[in-house]
Amino acid sequence: MNWPDWDQLQKDDRRVIWHPYASATDVPEIFPVIAAHGVHLELADGRRLLDGMSSWWCAIHGYNNPALNRAVRDQLFDMSHVMFGGLTHPPAVKLARLLTELTPPALERVFFSDSGSVAVEVALKMAIQYWYSMGRPGKQKLVALRNGYHGDTFGAMSLCDPETGMHHLFGEVLPKHFFAPAPQCPFDGDCPEQELAAMTELLSVHHQEIAAVIVEPVVQGAGGMRFYCPDYLVQLRALCDAFDVLLIFDEIATGFGRTGKLFALEHAEVEPDILCLGKALTGGYMTLAATLCTGQVATGISEGEAGAFMHGPTFMANPLACATAIASTELLLSQPWQRTIRRLNSELEQGLAPARELEQVAEVRTLGAIGVIELKEAVDMKRIQPMFVERGVWIRPFGKLVYAMPPYIMGSDDLASLTAAMVDVVAQA
Ligand SMILES: *Cc1c(COP(=O)(O)O)cnc(C)c1O
Repeated sequence: MNWPDWDQLQKDDRRVIWHPYASATDVPEIFPVIAAHGVHLELADGRRLLDGMSSWWCAIHGYNNPALNRAVRDQLFDMSHVMFGGLTHPPAVKLARLLTELTPPALERVFFSDSGSVAVEVALKMAIQYWYSMGRPGKQKLVALRNGYHGDTFGAMSLCDPETGMHHLFGEVLPKHFFAPAPQCPFDGDCPEQELAAMTELLSVHHQEIAAVIVEPVVQGAGGMRFYCPDYLVQLRALCDAFDVLLIFDEIATGFGRTGKLFALEHAEVEPDILCLGKALTGGYMTLAATLCTGQVATGISEGEAGAFMHGPTFMANPLACATAIASTELLLSQPWQRTIRRLNSELEQGLAPARELEQVAEVRTLGAIGVIELKEAVDMKRIQPMFVERGVWIRPFGKLVYAMPPYIMGSDDLASLTAAMVDVVAQA
């Protein structure tokens, strides 16, 4: 697109746009992007930034990938969209088949929606409607973990960490759920029974009111970039079974290889009753999410009072998005992606290690293709964001966290530049 005057574009952006988690009046510098290729974002002023964020976990194959471009183009000339009520189409069926093959066998059915937050809303509605159908309408509460993040819509927001999610702002409108402490057991450590003591107590006292427990398996993303031990999930599954409570895994951030397994639940070999997918599902090309559930949940809901699951987004199973998701997933599976993630992990580990020596750093941790520098104090975004851009990298910290989850196609030299820039900027900040 031609835009004659970039200063004007930035001024207009300031005037008419509201950016995510941002003020409309006190706007920090915003950088116009005109194109993205491979692992680079191209700014309007000609600078190229090495992308460390994969556009918030999504662009696992980088930008402008020929196979994904082809998938969009081919689908576009068949149809870009049709309603999904009473109609179906090959991209939806093929993608649903693929997802049920790749996820645990108990997950038999796929409900498509248009964003991660909505996939979480769908999961909540499934859990509540399931127990209603089972003649247990009292089970309407959820249990979530502190430091969790599940999205920004009301239902999803009510499951985010109560403090960082600012529950108090929304007063009585926000449903009240139960919260258990975030797991403290490290990824490669053991999970002592004590870790689940509070969860056990909550479930034993309140199970009559509880429909489901929802967690991000192994990696808590936007709520703190924390990793915890897979055995927690094994014990949680047993607890849920003991108390007649469904288990929901939110793999919207962790799905499609990011943690070194195709899905993070594979670290624990635990099957949830409901699974949410999104973000990297289309390789970052289009907005699409999916909620998978077991045959038991699907049958339970369908044979209940309503006789149907009460949800139906307008853009459900958008064919362009489904076609791209098939292409992205097939592209991932066609390569030795586990080896790639292992390489990225050792390079992140090596590249970020010097940050451990810095006074201002509390911890450096990596898992799969995720690298995190946790500082002792929150960063000053207005200062630090331009410092990254000056170093030619795109890193978007939040709070005390300076972290990277690069596109899987990033080469060793580029990743070394990225981690060096992260360490340098943290040292100066
Ligand atoms: C991003 C995210 C969501 C919300 O997805 P959106 O597409 O932003 O609505 C939900 N859960 C997790 C774990 C996420 O990382």
